Formats: sequence, C-alpha cells, structure tokens
Amino acid sequence: MNRVYNFSAGPSMLPEPVLKKAADQMMSYEGCGMSVMEMSHRSKIFESIIYGAEDLIRELMNIPDDYYVFFLQGGASTQFSMVPLNLMNKNNKADFVITGQWSKKAFAEASRYGSTRKVASSEDTVFTYIPKLDKSMFDPEADYVHITHNNTIYGTRYTVLPDTGNVPLVADISSDVLSQEIDVSKFGLLYAGAQKNIAPAGVTVVIVKKELVGNAMDFTPVMLNYETHIKDRSMYNTPPAYCIYIMKLVLEWLKELGGVKAMQARNEEKAAILYDFLDSSDMFRGTVVKEDRSMMNVPFVCPTDELNAKFIAEATENGFVNIKGHRTVGGMRASIYNAMPREGVVKLVEFMKEFEAKNK
Ligand SMILES: *Cc1c(COP(=O)(O)O)cnc(C)c1O
Repeated sequence: MNRVYNFSAGPSMLPEPVLKKAADQMMSYEGCGMSVMEMSHRSKIFESIIYGAEDLIRELMNIPDDYYVFFLQGGASTQFSMVPLNLMNKNNKADFVITGQWSKKAFAEASRYGSTRKVASSEDTVFTYIPKLDKSMFDPEADYVHITHNNTIYGTRYTVLPDTGNVPLVADISSDVLSQEIDVSKFGLLYAGAQKNIAPAGVTVVIVKKELVGNAMDFTPVMLNYETHIKDRSMYNTPPAYCIYIMKLVLEWLKELGGVKAMQARNEEKAAILYDFLDSSDMFRGTVVKEDRSMMNVPFVCPTDELNAKFIAEATENGFVNIKGHRTVGGMRASIYNAMPREGVVKLVEFMKEFEAKNK
C-alpha cells in the first residue's frame, strides 16, 4: 500500500499508528464485538473513551482545574457564534485582532450579537504579519479579546500573546493545538476544530475558564449554550463518537512520543528544515515576515505563476500532494502538522532542490 506525503491544510494527515490501530479495532473494539461507530454513547465502554480523551487533553495541555474541557460539533466555525452568545454578556462588547480569513469570519459573526471593534489588522499586506499590540489598544470594558493564534491560510502565528489586562483572551487554536506548549491560564477560552491536528472533522474542543460560563444571552439556543454541554459532560445529545475515539488514539500517540514538549521540538526542527531552505533558495521564497512564521503552515512561491504550476504538478506526480496554496495567496503551502513525519519534510526539500536545479 502506497501512502503519499500529504501536505493538506485540513482535513490533514493522521499518524499512521493511529490509522492502523483504528483498522485493527474496526470490527470489534477491545473485544466488545462491535465498532466504536456502532455502540451506545451511554455505555460504560464509550464513557471510558470520551472521559479518557478529556483526561488526556487535560494532562497533555496542563489545563488548570478551574477550566472546563468539552467536545462539540459544528466545527470551529460554530464557535464564531457560540463565543459571543456565551461571553459577550456584561458590556456586550468585544475586541478583535484581524490576521486572516478566520478572524474576519469570527469578527463578522460576533458583530451580529453586540458591539465589536477591530483593534488591529494586517489586511493591508494580505496578512503577511501579526500586528504589534499593546495594552492601551484594548478596551478595558470589552467582554473579551479574540485572536486567531495560528493563521492556517497565511502561515503566521503569535509568538507573544497580547497583554489584554483583565479582559479575557479568546483564541482560535484550530491549526496549532497541541503543536507547542501554551500556558492555558493566560486565556479565558480556547477552541479548536479537530481536523488539523487532533482527529477527523466532526469534533471541536473547547477549553473555558469556569467563571466565564453561565451568562449566555437569553435567546441562545440550547445547543449553542456552553452550559448545556458542560452539565452533561459533552453528552447532552449524541456526540461525534467515532471522531472522539480517533482523537483519543491521537492523544495516546502524542503522549507516547513524549507529550507536547517533545512534539514542539519535533515541529521546530521540521519547520527549520523547510524555512532554512526557503531562505537559501534563489527560486523559492516564503511569503510572510520571518518573525511571525507559522510552524504548521508554510506558504511559499516561485518567481512566476508558470513555475508555481509546474512545481505543483511535478510534486503531485512524485507523491507530495495537496501542496497548492490557498487561492488568496497563490503559489504553494505545505502544512506540516504534528502527524507529518520529519522524513516528509526532508523529502520535500530534496525534491524542491532538484526542481530548482532543473529549472534554473
Ligand atoms: C480550519 C479552521 C477553521 C474552520 O474550521 P471548521 O471546523 O471547518 O469550521 C477556523 N479557524 C482556523 C484557524 C482554522 O484553521
């Protein structure tokens, strides 16, 4: 069986040992005679999966006890509505930093429920950088400040968190969750759709400080109220059971590799291999400012559209797939999430070197 090097931005590759284990357990999970897809979510055996996954996330991310962790459906995009419905509840105001399509969408959705403000934006250069932020820029009366921690499309990330004073910081960590150590206590709320770094599409992880929950807007639908899901520990209704099971396998794999600290070291090395080459190449170059470069999503271009198209076609033929850039950036994007082995990046760089030599 031939597996390709899959640089997709999402859904993206899963660790091979996880796929193998899931295949082994497909017909009968731990001797119970059925697949996880077929079992009652109210069964003891499924409880051990979902609560096991929660415990592992708490352990791997070092989540303090005064935070809830729960699993939802609707993707990260549903959080663009749930966050304002649940948190924009004191002064009905929120501040946003605009660093790409996802922050724009979060901003637009929140604007339907209250008074929102763009504190800073990097749209002037098509999001090639993270704006410089300081405390005086934020409204101390805002109910929260929203950032997109890693910008999947443009390939930037925050290397320092903004100081928002007493205003809770909310971050979309869909594309860098579990890729590097973060201090959860610095945030009011974190959310991540699963399909970049933790599971197939279908489950969203939410981590929220307990004191922020309990004041949803009156008209908030039951399913969009965090309290509903917290009360029933992610099982108010049928959860995306199979996704949660794969997530647990991914978390076990990550723990076995040494946890987030070890993964961060691996990711730093992988990103350095690719960026060092981009910086030394006469043909390929990265598209964002150096100090804000993402470790997960690496956009790059050749000098002409013809060369970009040629590179993408030849890369695909050679087993480096889903490397075409987002339509708003053009060129290429290599997404090198946790599951991408070092070898995949090394092989890609070798291929880029050959391409450069042949097309001088
Ligand atoms: C992929 C992505 C989203 C959208 O996720 P869905 O699960 O498709 O709603 C939002 N934010 C970021 C940072 C993403 O990478």
